[in-house]
Amino acid sequence: MDNIYDIIIIGGGPGGIGVSIESKILGLEKILLIEKSDNHSHTIRKFYKDKKRVDKDWQGQAVTLEGNIEFIDGTKESTIDYFDSLLDNHLIDAKFNCEVDKVVKSGDIFIVTTSDGEFASKNVVVSVGRMGKPNKPSYIIPPSLKTQVNFNLDKCSNGEKIVIIGGGDSAVEYACDLSETNNVTLCYRRAELSKPNPTNQALFTTYKQLGKITPKFGVNIESLDNEHGQIKMVFSDDTSELFDRAIYALGGTTPIDFLKKCGVVLDDNGEPIFDSNYETKTSGMFIAGDIAFKSGGSIAIALNHGHKIVNYIQNKNI
Ligand SMILES: Cc1cc2nc3c(=O)[nH]c(=O)nc-3n(C[C@H](O)[C@H](O)[C@H](O)COP(=O)(O)OP(=O)(O)OC[C@H]3O[C@@H](n4cnc5c(N)ncnc54)[C@H](O)[C@@H]3O)c2cc1C
Repeated sequence: MDNIYDIIIIGGGPGGIGVSIESKILGLEKILLIEKSDNHSHTIRKFYKDKKRVDKDWQGQAVTLEGNIEFIDGTKESTIDYFDSLLDNHLIDAKFNCEVDKVVKSGDIFIVTTSDGEFASKNVVVSVGRMGKPNKPSYIIPPSLKTQVNFNLDKCSNGEKIVIIGGGDSAVEYACDLSETNNVTLCYRRAELSKPNPTNQALFTTYKQLGKITPKFGVNIESLDNEHGQIKMVFSDDTSELFDRAIYALGGTTPIDFLKKCGVVLDDNGEPIFDSNYETKTSGMFIAGDIAFKSGGSIAIALNHGHKIVNYIQNKNI
């Protein structure tokens, strides 16, 4: 506890990496990045399919990078390699397999309690993302179907009849990828796709025209049942269909309990309250990355948060 960090960053995704690198470049001396999984970028490793195209302008949002990190379009692999090199080249002190449990402010210092002991810091950035708890449907998923109802592609195998649920970029990318080796339906509650970026919109149109993806648009899903080991999906248009697998690509939820344990004040909707520098109601406690949005974050946006936060801390210190 003698060692007081200038900044502790909770979460080793793009938001946390952005804050770490900007901290080093802009002159904070003692920096600690804490990540609960066994390496940085857990969301990218777990939810992106291998060789996935990674777009800088995700969800159709054109983002100008404001900081010192030159993030460009690439793939899952090139993005992870780039983040590896950033952390190595800037000698970032990162603790992996270390889960933060809570943060308490005592005087001017934050005490961060983790699975690996307590650490003290003058500033804390919470950047834990939303994909720790992917959004789930409101209807019941029968326990007997739990291995066939998924939130990423880990369990898929070739030759399955698969339904993807969602209307964003991830849903379209999952559908196009799986359709090469599976019979794929894309199910979306609205009549048309509007969220995906132009590249994914064009991809979807091509795949649909080639008959590789069957769209089931403008309907809600009423229920899931187990019919002889298959998923029977019942739709609001009084139709139903059997699938081997269902994959929900609906984004993630705000980690309300964790934010409360960090002392972050939430609004009536359970979203964190923060100002234009991403500082929460507690001075010295910031949020970065996807948790600053109900939906619609991106890697580039998360990296920009880091630049803004560290600039603000350094200007305060002058
Ligand atoms: C399928 C899919 C495809 C996508 N494709 C793109 C794309 O092409 N381009 C793009 O810009 N964006 C894309 N995104 C969005 C992008 O991945 C996110 O905007 C970005 O990862 C957000 O970064 P983050 O640091 O806020 O959160 P995350 O990346 O979710 O990182 C949070 C980190 O915090 C860690 N953590 C959580 N709780 C704790 C704890 N208690 N203690 C310690 N560590 C903790 C997690 O393990 C994780 O590593 C995609 C998202 C998905 C789901």
